[in-house]
This record gives sequence, structure tokens and C-alpha cells, in this order.
Amino acid sequence: MSEKPEHFIVDGKRLDGRRVDELRPIKIEIGVLGRADGSCYLEWGNNKVLAAVYGPRELHPRHRQKMTRSVVQFRYNMASFSVDERTRPGPSRRSIEISKVSREAFEPVVFTKFFPKTAIDVFVEILQAGAGTRTAGINAASLALADAGIPMRGLVSACAVGKVDGEIVLDLMKEEDNYGEADLPVAMTAGRQITLLQMDGHLTTEEFYRALELAKTGCDQVYELQRQALIEKYSKEYTTEIEDEDPAPAGEPEGDADE
Ligand code: UDP
Repeated sequence: MSEKPEHFIVDGKRLDGRRVDELRPIKIEIGVLGRADGSCYLEWGNNKVLAAVYGPRELHPRHRQKMTRSVVQFRYNMASFSVDERTRPGPSRRSIEISKVSREAFEPVVFTKFFPKTAIDVFVEILQAGAGTRTAGINAASLALADAGIPMRGLVSACAVGKVDGEIVLDLMKEEDNYGEADLPVAMTAGRQITLLQMDGHLTTEEFYRALELAKTGCDQVYELQRQALIEKYSKEYTTEIEDEDPAPAGEPEGDADE
């Protein structure tokens, strides 16, 4: 693990040169897995995350089926090689907790009533971790769900805020996450309905509300990037489909020749 830095903010700049209200760079690619119904690869700072969605599909075992709705299942998994100090493969208390809160982050937006007796399975694989993997996973999952065509009220966008050197900062990097005074991951809908809110560390009430406001601006920025990624993917696909259609042979009228 890296050492605790003496200062996190020097001359208004953080260890990686960002301002206190600046996100790390985000790169999004939608539809990267051929066998999934929807998928997304997302890089966020040092995080590299893959999300895959399967379904709606029949839920097994059948006694877990709900007669009036679909069951959303979420599995967050951190690959052993994703961190400096190799993690044990398989579920851990941490991954079970993150899977639960991430699933709940989508509960208010997915129209589960359309698909009784089914499951919608979301898998998030952390390939490289660098602080904020749960929020990166939620952002990728949100786009994978959209890519799978799952009806939703809207996208869910997430980011973390925290406190370092007594200042409220947006989107914690590894050192800030590990040694900072507070870490507050937040997920929300485009209408700013909060669907995930966790907190580690200490904040005063005033700091908490200030941090929440900063998280909202962060989620708005993430939402815009998600929206752009969807537009780019689907406008490209639509244009290619039109180009692929065989043009009518020159000089012949369109329609059936036998008519
Ligand atoms: N981390 C690690 N080993 C672990 C769990 C976490 O090295 O077993 C690192 C990883 O970089 C992660 C960061 O610690 O992103 C913060 O973890 P936290 O539990 O706060 O969740 P996250 O911020 O990733 O959502």
C-alpha cells in the first residue's frame, strides 16, 4: 500500500493535479461483449471495470421467482489481480455488501413489473481498482442495462466525494480514499433522486450537506458522459444499418418486379 502523503492539497491542487471539484478522466465503451444482452467497459482514473447484463431470463431456482415482477440480481466482483495486494478470489463481506447496495441503487429505476418470473442479472467485474470501484461499477452497470434494452425510468449515475486536508473534494483517488478523513459514495437518478448513499469517516452536518451538493454536480457530469456514450453508440449503429441496406439497382424502380 502507498504511504500516507503529508499533504493532499498543495496550492489548490490535489496529488494528481486536479482541482477539488474535478473528476478523474472517464472513458466509456458500450456493447463490448458479444454474448451479453448489454455490456459496458468503463475506465475512470485508474479503475477499469466491465459490466454485463443478461436477461430478462427465467429465474432459477423457480421458488425465487416473483409472480408480479422481475428480480434484479447484482454481482460485484473484484479480480484478485485488480489490486496491489492480491485479494482472495470469490465473494467477501465487502463484495457482498457492494453487490447489495448496488442492486438497491437500481431498484427505483428498473421497470421490473414488465417481466414477471424473470431475473435481470448484472455482473460487474473490477479488472483494475483505484478507488471508487463501486461507483464506477454502478455507472457501467447503468449503461449495460440500457444497452440490454431494459426499460428504466432513467440512468443511474454515481461518484464519491470526501474530505482531505479539511477540504471537501470530488471523486477521491486512491491515497485520498485510503487516508482521507471521509469517503461518501453517492448514486442518483438524472432527476437527482438519491439511490445510494454511504459514508466512511467523519463530517459535520454542514460539511455533509456541502459534500452532498458536490456529489450532485459530480453525478450530473457523469450522467452527461453516459448520455453522450449512448448517443455515440446508437447513432453510429443506426447510421451503419442504413448504409448496409442494399440500394435499389440504378435505373430500376423500387418494389417487386412481378407486380
Ligand atoms: N482496495 C484494495 N484491496 C481490497 C479492497 C479495496 O486494494 O481488498 C482498494 C481499491 O483500490 C479500492 C479502494 O481500496 O478501490 C477503496 O475501497 P473501498 O472499499 O472504499 O471501495 P471503493 O472506493 O472501491 O468503492
